[in-house]
Amino acid sequence: EYVNLNEFLVYIINRFDMMIHSDEEHAEDSGAPKKHYVIKRDLTKQDIWLEIDTDKMTQVIDNIMNNAIKYSPDGGTITVRLFRSREHVLISIADQGLGIPRADLAKVFDRFYRVDKARSRKQGGTGLGLAISKEVVEAHHGRIWVNSTEGKGSTFYISLPYQPYDPGGDWDDETV
Ligand code: ATP
Ligand code: MG
Repeated sequence: EYVNLNEFLVYIINRFDMMIHSDEEHAEDSGAPKKHYVIKRDLTKQDIWLEIDTDKMTQVIDNIMNNAIKYSPDGGTITVRLFRSREHVLISIADQGLGIPRADLAKVFDRFYRVDKARSRKQGGTGLGLAISKEVVEAHHGRIWVNSTEGKGSTFYISLPYQPYDPGGDWDDETV
């Protein structure tokens, strides 16, 4: 299905923005600690149309966003960026959380792998989120990777092949 990638990301981000508010209401009843976070968006002015499996890609972005919140202390900023080059689009999701030790960077995409078992167990989860994300991104012929500094935060990147949408086939690029 062809989607406008800007709209797609804004839709997901808005949903997380709403969760902040509903969580706060819920936290007041339950006494559970509230987690505050701010989501910044840095998207492209031009629309980017891409053919993706929307449900599966939503799952990927949801997991990375959930991780960014889950593995960050209160008060962090999450920055979602969208870039486009000639042949790729790049989505990056940066957090100011715990970070990932260098030795674990490649392994976080393995099934069931979780950094620091004790710490992760408290947070809940199975360790499958990123393994599934990798499968989905690779099924789209894309790549997923992470840069991270312990104690400072992590940035997850998703790159997907991109071809300018050209419904006519023979039209001049400038007019499409
Ligand atoms: P699930 O997603 O299945 O609920 P999970 O979040 O533990 O469980 P993954 O999403 O696959 O599993 O992440 C694997 C591990 O990578 C996590 O347990 C955590 O240790 C580490 N990790 C993932 N994202 C971050 C992040 N943004 N900051 C720090 N550590 C992270
Ligand atoms: Mg996860």
